[in-house]
Amino acid sequence: MLTRTNRFLKEANLIGADWVGADSGATFDVFNPANGQRLGHVPNAGAVETRRAIEVAHECFQEWRRTTAAHRAGLMRKLHDVIMDNRQVLAELLTLEQGKPLAESLGEVGNSAAYILWYAEEARRVYGDTMPSPWADRKMMVVKEPVGVIAAITPWNFPSSMLARKIGPALATGCTAVVKPAEATPYSGLAWGLLAQEAGIPDGVINIVTGDPAPIGKELTGNPLVRKITFTGSTRTGKILLKQAAGTVKKVSMELGGNAPFIVFDDADVEAAVSGAMLAKFRNSGQTCVCTNRFYAQSKIYDKFVERLAEEAAKLTVGNGLDDGTVQGPVINEMQLGKIEELVADAEKKGGKILTGGKRHTLGGTFYEPTVIANAKPRMRFSKEEIFGPVAPVYRFKDEADAIAMANDTDYGLACYFYTQNLGRAYRVMDGLKYGLVGVNEGMITAVEAPFGGFKESGLGKEGGHQGIDEYLDSKYVCIGGLGQ
Ligand code: ADP
Repeated sequence: MLTRTNRFLKEANLIGADWVGADSGATFDVFNPANGQRLGHVPNAGAVETRRAIEVAHECFQEWRRTTAAHRAGLMRKLHDVIMDNRQVLAELLTLEQGKPLAESLGEVGNSAAYILWYAEEARRVYGDTMPSPWADRKMMVVKEPVGVIAAITPWNFPSSMLARKIGPALATGCTAVVKPAEATPYSGLAWGLLAQEAGIPDGVINIVTGDPAPIGKELTGNPLVRKITFTGSTRTGKILLKQAAGTVKKVSMELGGNAPFIVFDDADVEAAVSGAMLAKFRNSGQTCVCTNRFYAQSKIYDKFVERLAEEAAKLTVGNGLDDGTVQGPVINEMQLGKIEELVADAEKKGGKILTGGKRHTLGGTFYEPTVIANAKPRMRFSKEEIFGPVAPVYRFKDEADAIAMANDTDYGLACYFYTQNLGRAYRVMDGLKYGLVGVNEGMITAVEAPFGGFKESGLGKEGGHQGIDEYLDSKYVCIGGLGQ
């Protein structure tokens, strides 16, 4: 077992070629959520270190932007291979600081590598345009160029792959980056520095700072050398960053909160719906922005669906993510656990019926029992608030229009899911749902090939797919005149 012998456990920030501490020498501790043990510490950097990282990234951009797409794609394929060669230790590091079961961490690290490979392929397909000119002596074209230095801020729930989605298109287009991982899970972020160095990516292309989010975020959003900010995290923080980025009119991509509905119609295959529901709810202990927050089951199928969902939820083995057989780890911290407890207490008070779970797990710490709550009602707090934990409330609905209206009754619009065996209904419901990602008879739908991004307060812009690269490019129209007739 690893801990401090893992060479990816870096306790310094990467600025240019140098692994450095905060100027003040200050650090903050990182803990294992499965047992509360301190894993180590990382630099508590602030605005000054961030500014330095931005300046290095800006200087480095002047050369990096001139490299060919084929050259960058070659380096990215190496980066993919370095990730895959170290997949096991990277996954162990991820589980240690984040808590998710090792199998999920292996999946996430594999996904990080897949994003890098996808963008290595996309790098060579950044096409421009030519247009028929309205003038006989002039030619017109549109060329694409990298936006410049990009800043990335990422959350703790996918500490490796959320960076892959941002570093991938940055490298592909010839941008340079300053990234800030989340305080709870900085090691999987800092590991990207070592991975980039081992793949031969030039110093200064990827810079990583850890520390106090507010001053770092202010510098990243306020510094005019940064031309784009890409953020994954809460809607609350996203709004702060959007306001701050307005001062220098940066490009922005925001992957924010969700409140995913999961609708089960009477004509659904109930077993398929339960399998999909388990994936869409309990993966990563319910701590993903595409996790189901609200289940809606139609009147006739309701009892069967909740009964089977509760049976399956009760079977989940909860434990330390590094132990064999664990399928649900702890939640990230005491604050998150407290919020889950509040939401469950609120539901119970308002008539919710707990079919399984409903309390802290006997393992102690931040473990929580997989929970299913029947008789959920719109007045319960989780109808509007993100649970971010292993709690599945199930609401009852009458008809299709009712289901669509309830599902859309939220400020969010990231992912949604529904189960039906009626083709006409599948099209109508897909059309009616105001969400950026729709799973029809599927509970897990994200893939590197597909664009990921929300509607409404769930965000702006797309990550992944061929669409994801556009966010890192400026389009330049060029008119060449004086060509004669
Ligand atoms: P969560 O509730 O998932 O922790 P946050 O939005 O608070 O969501 O955190 C996501 C990321 O945003 C983390 O890296 C965190 O450090 C960062 N962050 C939080 N507040 C700010 C801020 N004011 N400015 C910049 N980054 C921030």
